Amino acid sequence: MNAPKPRPGFPARLPLGPAAPTPARVRPLAPPGPPASSGVGLDSHAVRQAMVRKLSAQGIGHPQVLAAMGTVERHRFVDSALVNQAYEDTSLPIGLGQTISKPNVVARMLELLCHGRSLPLGRVLEVGTGCGYQAAVMSLLAKEVYSIERLRGLHDKARENLRPLRLPNLHLLLGDGMLGFAAGAPYAGIVAAAGGEAIPGAWTDQLAVGGRLVAPAALQPGRQHLVVIDKTLNGLQQTVLEPVHFVPLKSGVV
Ligand code: SAH
Repeated sequence: MNAPKPRPGFPARLPLGPAAPTPARVRPLAPPGPPASSGVGLDSHAVRQAMVRKLSAQGIGHPQVLAAMGTVERHRFVDSALVNQAYEDTSLPIGLGQTISKPNVVARMLELLCHGRSLPLGRVLEVGTGCGYQAAVMSLLAKEVYSIERLRGLHDKARENLRPLRLPNLHLLLGDGMLGFAAGAPYAGIVAAAGGEAIPGAWTDQLAVGGRLVAPAALQPGRQHLVVIDKTLNGLQQTVLEPVHFVPLKSGVV
């Protein structure tokens, strides 16, 4: 595996101590299911491994995150017309004006979430289920995943996409994720796939002590960055990382 490459101007790794020395094994997704009818599905394993090698060359170094990215079949989460692009490092439309983040961004966020912590994480919350892809990857890294979506159409689509994977530790919720999901709190981790101007207080309130939040936010007007917040016994520690472009965090359920 290539050594992680630092990104210019931003710390490649949070200064959180050494990564947990756990082996690069994640639970396989059961059942494997029939191959997708399109060309990429028939040999998607090889295409996915190529994607993982590229992620690794781009500086993603966390073994379990890479293994999880190599396990979840991304092509099952995109429209059939886009299946051939499913393993390219590009964001793709998933309907209702929303996009699935590119693999590098998903891996980067989950690496930040997992860095230096023993896996599986406990309970985690994803805000912005979208097509359900990132939730499926998270289900391999945490004991329980709650994923909340405000658009009914996407919530239903994610449910359909995820049904064949039978992930008993993944719970899909329809609701306004700006409020978090209090019933599942406290969370060992929170990840948001949509960004507002600030990190909602409900998220930090619902984070466990020792928990970590990874989310995009435009803390300065018009300039969205990836933000990491650690909740410690001494309070919240915030780190602002590289610029990113996520869809807007909106309130209410539609
Ligand atoms: N993780 C997703 C990415 C989806 S894009 C995937 O793998 O496909 C971000 C999603 O956040 C969109 O579906 C959008 O509708 C949703 N979103 C925006 N604001 C939200 C809110 N307040 N609560 C829940 N979901 C929200």
